[in-house]
Amino acid sequence: MRLKHIKGAEEAVALSSYVIHDAKERPGTWNRLFDSQGPIHIEIGMGKGRFLMELAAQNPQINYIGIERYSSVLLRAIQKMEEEPLPNLCFLCEDASELEQFFAPGEINRIYLNFSDPWPKARHARRRLTSVNYLNRYAPLLAEGGQLEFKTDNEALFDFSLESVEEAGWKLLGYTRDLHNDPQMNAGNIMTEYEEKFSSRGNPIYKLTAIPPRVRS
Ligand code: SAM
Repeated sequence: MRLKHIKGAEEAVALSSYVIHDAKERPGTWNRLFDSQGPIHIEIGMGKGRFLMELAAQNPQINYIGIERYSSVLLRAIQKMEEEPLPNLCFLCEDASELEQFFAPGEINRIYLNFSDPWPKARHARRRLTSVNYLNRYAPLLAEGGQLEFKTDNEALFDFSLESVEEAGWKLLGYTRDLHNDPQMNAGNIMTEYEEKFSSRGNPIYKLTAIPPRVRS
């Protein structure tokens, strides 16, 4: 992804009360941060935050945490929150490679991955957020009944992700290779910024949902 450096972004992120700066001190205590106790859903690589903001507005009983590693991208989400604050949403400006340092085992009820970076070179496969490497790390963090939802327009990444899900022993709950023409999987779908961009070019959107091995029914 091409990244524009935005002057002042780092400072704005550092000063924002919507961004949690001491995430490494919070494993096991995230619910105390929010006004009400509720399931915790996270999006890794949230970009400008539109998806999570719509979800948070629709579901006040769920607490949402958006993780984005670049301050110049996160800045846009912060600006939107300043216009329309949501008590059940906060942001982390962090890298997902440190995920276990932010959350306690079983603390998360859902993980969203939307249009994750494809890392096309084979030698970078471990960096893909749907690699076995990452799935093995998400599994203990998910509570009983917790699940992963992944959307992309990238067929190669989607095929790789289906293989990873199987290899890591996760159970595939559902998948589609054309989300917007799949009434069942598309029910209640909220478009992300990338989803809108790619689907307006006619690209099909791929989606899978899966649960980790220990919560199999
Ligand atoms: N999810 C948004 C959407 O669908 O519109 C943004 C998609 S964009 C292609 C991927 C985003 O994930 C980028 O903003 C990138 O900075 C972020 N990202 C990629 N790897 C990450 C990581 N390891 N930790 C945190 N953020 C990451």
